[in-house]
Parts: sequence; structure tokens; C-alpha cells
Amino acid sequence: MEAKSKKSGATRLCCLCNLRRPVLKRPKTLQQICRECFYEVFEEEIHQVIVQNRLFKSGERVAIGASGGKDSTVLAYVLSELNRRHNYGLDLFLLSIDEGITGYRDDSLETVKRNEVQYGLPLQIVSYKDLYGWTMDDIVKMIGLKNNCTFCGVFRRQALDRGAALLKVDKLVTGHNADDIAETVLLNILRGDIARLSRCTSITTGEDGPIPRCKPFKYTYEKEIVMYAYFKKLDYFSTECIYSPNAYRGFAREFIKDLERLRPRAILDIIKSGEDFRIATTTKMPEQGTCERCGYISSQKWCKACVLLEGLNRGLPKMGIGRPRGVNGDHKKETKKPGPAVKSIESKQCGSLDF
Ligand code: SF4
Repeated sequence: MEAKSKKSGATRLCCLCNLRRPVLKRPKTLQQICRECFYEVFEEEIHQVIVQNRLFKSGERVAIGASGGKDSTVLAYVLSELNRRHNYGLDLFLLSIDEGITGYRDDSLETVKRNEVQYGLPLQIVSYKDLYGWTMDDIVKMIGLKNNCTFCGVFRRQALDRGAALLKVDKLVTGHNADDIAETVLLNILRGDIARLSRCTSITTGEDGPIPRCKPFKYTYEKEIVMYAYFKKLDYFSTECIYSPNAYRGFAREFIKDLERLRPRAILDIIKSGEDFRIATTTKMPEQGTCERCGYISSQKWCKACVLLEGLNRGLPKMGIGRPRGVNGDHKKETKKPGPAVKSIESKQCGSLDF
């Protein structure tokens, strides 16, 4: 009897194909599966998300926001594969932002340049220095390590749109994964940011703006992206930004990781909760217009990037941090105290995350 159970233990097989030995426990479902089945379910789920949400149309030009990190590298690889396998008919490009962070972005961009060759995808790099006249190194020198991610996030959002316009693409895809989205739902609740809460779970955003953005990894777990990159031996860069603050977002991230340890479905359930929120019709939402200075979409007279840039150029870097003021508000002068919690971060503060 004992010999029999030992024998059955030794011959445990992948619970999907029942043919090969399992090599991993799938984080999303805890199934013991083989490598081949893992590739198949991982890629097929992303394909289904693309098809069911009609993310692309044949003939479209699509830019992949590429930072050299695990998420965007796996996205570039998988999207190229699916495009070939299922004849999506897409023209794919890599689009990278050079924030000017010595010892971080310069190294990660070398990875993207190798990915350009490995995947045969043309690469466009746009830099903060060219667009704004400032690198993040310059900005941190001026403002220190507080609020640096606000500048970086706001500038990155516009930089991606400008890079996408240079490439004349129809869509921009980013490697935001399920963990990122669950974390953003939680953060928007914690900050009481109803406007963002109502759209942070959308798989496509910005359809009324210059270039729609899609998140094909909306339901893809971060742990599975790491496993996929590892088993496929993909070439990616894993060092965290040297200016990463790891503050508020870091706590939300840890909380979600703890929940995931107890119940892997928690990530999907938080996303589902975010999707099912209904915003009361009486809630005042920002009205979308265009920046009087640069023409970029903005709910204020000047867009956030122009306000932040003006502050930097005038040596008043706190201008634009906090609630609208200066050109967009009642206060003409910078006061000593920083404003209340920043409510106008246009893209996620990446910390160790991909964009
Ligand atoms: Fe920019 Fe991200 Fe670094 Fe912050 S952590 S400075 S948002 S790259």
C-alpha cells in the first residue's frame, strides 16, 4: 500500500495535460502544471482578453510602452507572438521614455535596444531633456526626493503621447498588470479620488484624447509575468529606480501581496469591485478641456506638465504640487507650506513598477 502511494506520488502529472511532470504551481489558480501548459494558458488568456475587449483592429499601428522591465518586455514578446500566431495584422513598435536617470534608465534603455533587435520591433526613444529641457537628475537636484515621482509621472504621460504621435500610432499599450490595477483601485479609494476610481479599471482609456491606451495584462498576475520571463529566458532589466520613494503606494502593494498569499483570487476580486463601482450622478467630475499653453488635454487652464515646468523654470518647484493654484488657481505666489495631498498625478508613480 505504502509502495503504491509512493509510486503515485512520484508519477504526479500536470493537471492540465496529464502528460508531463508539473514544474510550477500557477499563482493565479494554484494548479500544478508543466511548463508547456503554463505558456499555453498564459498566452491564451491574454489573447482572449484582446479578442473579447476588441483591443485592436487589423491594420493598426500599435506602440508598446517599453521600459526594459519585466512587464513591458513580456508584453512586447507575447504581443509579437500573438500578432503572428493569430494574424492580428498589427504594426508593432517599441516606445521608450528616457527620463534622464543616470544609473537606472540609461541601463534599462540598453535592454530595450537589445529587445528591438531580438523581437525585430522598431524603437522610438523620447527624452525629458528634449521635451522639457530637464532630466530627472536635474529635477531631483533642485527638489530633492520629495514629489519627484509627481514630476516624473506627469511628464511621462505626456512624453508617451508625444512619442506615440511621432510614431503615428493608433494605440499605445502598456504593461500594467492585474496587481498594478488592484493597487490603483485601493489607492484611489484611500485618496478619495473618485474621478480616477471610475476609470482606473478600464482596459482602454483616453479614447477621447490623442491616443487611446490599452492594458492587455489587466488580468495577468505579476508573479506569472515574472515566471514567464524566467522560463522563456527573456532579456529584461530588474533594478528599481534610484529615486523610488516606496511610500504610500508601497504600503498598498504590500497589503495586496498579503491578501494574495491568503487568497490568490483577491487581486481579481479587487479589480471586479473597482469595475462595479457606480459613481453617484451628483459627484462633481473634472471637465476635460485643453491646456492654453501647449494644447494637451487638461481640466485646468494649464495642464499639469506646463504648471510643473513653469515652477521649475522659475525656480519655484512647489508650484503645481497639491491643489491647483498659481496660473490655475487663486494663489499667485508660492507659499512655504506644500499643498495638501497631491490629487493630480496623471500616471501611476512607478516606484519599482513598469509604466
Ligand atoms: Fe520616475 Fe518611477 Fe523613478 Fe519615480 S520611481 S522617479 S516615477 S522612474
